[in-house]
Amino acid sequence: MPEVTTTLLPTVPTDLWLAGNQVPASSGETFAVEDPATGEVIAQVADATLADADAALDAAVAAAPVWAKTSPRHRTNVLTRIFDLVTERTGDLARTMTVEMGKPLGEARGEVAYGNEYFRWAAEEAARIPGRFGEASQGNGHMLMTRTPVGPVLAITPWNFPLAMATRKIAPALAAGCPIIVKPAAETPLTMLLLGEIIAQAFAEFEVPAGLVSILPTTGAAEMSEHLMADRRLRKVTFTGSTPVGRTLVRQSADNLQRTSMELGGNAPFVVTADADIPAAVAGAMVAKLRNGGQVCVAANRFLVDNAVAAEFADGLVAAASEVRQGHGLDEGVTLGPLITAKQRARVHDLVTDAVARGARLLLGGELPEGPGNFYPATVLADVPADAPILAEEIFGPVATITTFDGVEAGVAAANDTDFGLAAYGYAGAVTTAQYLTENLQAGMVALNRGQLSEPAAPFGGIGQSGFGREGGTEGIEEYLDVRYLALP
Ligand code: NAD
Repeated sequence: MPEVTTTLLPTVPTDLWLAGNQVPASSGETFAVEDPATGEVIAQVADATLADADAALDAAVAAAPVWAKTSPRHRTNVLTRIFDLVTERTGDLARTMTVEMGKPLGEARGEVAYGNEYFRWAAEEAARIPGRFGEASQGNGHMLMTRTPVGPVLAITPWNFPLAMATRKIAPALAAGCPIIVKPAAETPLTMLLLGEIIAQAFAEFEVPAGLVSILPTTGAAEMSEHLMADRRLRKVTFTGSTPVGRTLVRQSADNLQRTSMELGGNAPFVVTADADIPAAVAGAMVAKLRNGGQVCVAANRFLVDNAVAAEFADGLVAAASEVRQGHGLDEGVTLGPLITAKQRARVHDLVTDAVARGARLLLGGELPEGPGNFYPATVLADVPADAPILAEEIFGPVATITTFDGVEAGVAAANDTDFGLAAYGYAGAVTTAQYLTENLQAGMVALNRGQLSEPAAPFGGIGQSGFGREGGTEGIEEYLDVRYLALP
């Protein structure tokens, strides 16, 4: 039987959420979830099978027409109730997240608040889904454009934001009138299973159809998604994760022409111009780099700094990053947790070692610590050569790379030298420099003089190899709606 094996966790469900019920996997199999700060197994979780996926899709298909016919205001009420219950359970959700994912408890609470805002936003938007009416261009009739829910959705989410990456999908899907099956990352299923308990409570109060939300942790992600996508009744796949897996899913979607949203990897530049406020840029850099240990798709991956201010910026960043306290995320005062897996830590360390071998200067960190857990220290590298893989790959660790340029045009050219295009950051003082940055940095999201840009009311998403589709804002709900045109006399 699935079970929780650590006292660090609150009471948290470990079976699947299938059509409103907690059920074991049909195979009876479970898999282990570890605390990345200690390497200890903290829970055994039900390992969903293809038969479980079929059962979830059957239930979703049955729920779809019922939910699609509910009034917008009813959906508002259900989503608002989920928002209220998540708010009440913030402590449990945050603690669960910290123990299975590693982020400091304060950050985990921040993620619960942020992720929950998608329920509030979607609750407000549910009653405001727009249509359009107009006269036909030849004057021979009228046209009425409405929106209909796309139908059953599969959501596949990563481990780095165990709650928010899923609420960004669940909330708009429900607002639009769609059922959703969530496949959380195998590293972090517990936060989502706890959210399942909250959703089940809200649904029971409103007599919502049981199959509207299912949550299926599995060690067989590839098989499950392929199996579900081979079923024509599934109408949409929304994915947050790495670019290679995104490409696979888009290929798979071709057979049944499922709609897809792809929130993929990034390689965000952080450009600091000669006229920028350097203390402000350093403060922004700390957030853009070290939040969640750098395991963020919009984390600053490359610091590009004008030579005129490079030494001041590097000194400031090293001083600020030296203040970071690393440890178990539940411990008081900890600001940097472990990386998610030993494999990921080895990858990060290899990138750093390789950059140093190529001539980069190590200003801080860079040493593998002794002891248990997947810890990696805050690390700063300067003079990183342009051909170093660390500048081309998503680091996903607490490592800042600094390279320099002369003049904002050169800085922007270097920033745009990537196939990714999720986020870009720019720090500038003069209006003309700021304008140059905002007009020329190529990314789905550009932050000016800010180190943080996630916002439930804004469309989150990328261009190029960072994917397509948006989450948040009115655009985030459009992803779950089809447009219907009615020709009228
Ligand atoms: P990943 O692609 O390995 O896994 C993401 C999810 O996909 C997991 O649930 C995993 O089980 C599942 N998965 C893995 N292989 C699959 C397959 N063949 N078919 C179907 N599902 C499969 O990514 P990760 O390492 O867990 O997450 C980190 C990546 O996610 C980074 O590249 C990061 O940039 C990206 N990310 C993007 C955003 C965004 O909004 N653009 C947000 C967070 C993370």
